[in-house]
Amino acid sequence: MTLKASESGAWSPEFLAAIVDSSDDAIIGKTLDGEIISWNRGAERLYGYTAAEVVGRPISILIPPDRPDELPKILALLRRGERVDHFRTERVRKDGIRLAVSVTISPVHDAEGRIIGASAIARDVTAQEHAVREALEMREQFVSVAAHELRTPLTAVFARLQLIERRLDRPDYDRQDLARDINVVRRGTDRLRLLLERLLDVSRITSGRLDLERSPTDVVALVQAAASEYAEASGHDVTVEAAGAEGILANVDAVRIEEVLMNLIDNAAKYGPADRPVEVEVRAGDDALRIAVHDHGSGIPEDQRERIFEPFYRANANIRGVGLGLHLAREIVHQHGGSLELEDGDGAGTTFVVSLPR
Ligand code: ADP
Repeated sequence: MTLKASESGAWSPEFLAAIVDSSDDAIIGKTLDGEIISWNRGAERLYGYTAAEVVGRPISILIPPDRPDELPKILALLRRGERVDHFRTERVRKDGIRLAVSVTISPVHDAEGRIIGASAIARDVTAQEHAVREALEMREQFVSVAAHELRTPLTAVFARLQLIERRLDRPDYDRQDLARDINVVRRGTDRLRLLLERLLDVSRITSGRLDLERSPTDVVALVQAAASEYAEASGHDVTVEAAGAEGILANVDAVRIEEVLMNLIDNAAKYGPADRPVEVEVRAGDDALRIAVHDHGSGIPEDQRERIFEPFYRANANIRGVGLGLHLAREIVHQHGGSLELEDGDGAGTTFVVSLPR
C-alpha cells in the first residue's frame, strides 16, 4: 500500500494510522474512564493481546494488582489536562509476565479543546534496566577487585622497599640479600602489572577495542613453549601430546593465544592436584585445531559450568585469583572465530577445549 499526504497538505488518516501501527512502542488510545479504544501492533507485541481482545476493555487489565492506586491518579491528572512523562512503572502481559515499562500519557483534545481521552505510549525497559544493573554490578566488582587485589601486592612491595631502605645502612647487607629483596619487589610488581593488564583487557573487550595482531603461527610450537615456560616457572609438570598436528600453521595472535593457554594451564595446576601433571593435547581436525587442557582435579559442578566464564565469577574463594581468566580467554578465542568450552567429562577432572579455525 502506498500512502501519501492528502492534497490539502495534511496527513491522511491512513498515513497517520500506519505510522502509529509501525511504531515499536505500544501506542494505546483510551477514554477518560480508562476504556481501551485503540491498540497498535507495538501494543500487541508488548502486552501479548490482539486489538480485538482488548478494545472495549478497561486499561486496568495491564496494571499489576499490587498497584491499585496508580490508575485513578493518572486518570485524575488527565482530566485536569496534565500529562505524565516517562513514568517508570510495571505492567502485566497477557501471559502474566511483569514488564518494566516507561510510559508517557497525554490528554487528547477535540476541535473545541475539550479533553476526550488519552494516548499512552509505553516502551519495554526490562532489557535496558537489566543491562544497567549488570553494568553497575560489574563496576562494583571492578572497584572491589581493584581495591583488594591491588592492595595486597602493593602493600608487600611498599613494605619490602621500606625494609631495603633501612637495611642499606647496615654494613652486613650484601648483594645477595639485596637481590633477594629485589626479587620480592619484582614478584609483587609483576602481579600488579598482570592484574592491571587484565582489568584493562576487560574494559577493552567491553568497548570492542581488543585488537588482534594475527600472523601464521605454528600452534604446536606455541603450546610446547607455553607448557615448558609454565613448568619451569611454577615447578608443576605439564605434558604435551600433539601427534599429527606438528608444523600446522594457524593465523592467530600468538601473544593472545599464549595468554589463553597460560591461563588454562595455570587453572589446571591451581585447581588440580599438585602431584599430577597438567595434560595438554593438540589435535588437527579438517577445519579446526583443537587444544585440550586436562587436569585431575575434582571437576566443576553442573550449575557452575557456564557461570565460570562470567567476568569476576569465582567458585573457589580460598585459591588465589580474580575470576577474569576464563572470561578473557573465551573472549580472545571468540575473536579468533573459535570456541572455548568445558568438555563434558565423566567426573574425572576437568578438560577445557580451545578450537581454532585452521
Ligand atoms: P580465577 O582462577 O581467577 O578464579 P577464572 O576465570 O580463571 O578465575 O576461573 C573462574 C572459576 O572457574 C574459578 O574460580 C574456579 O572456581 C573455576 N575453575 C577454573 N578452572 C578450573 C579447573 N581447571 N578446575 C576446577 N575449577 C576451575
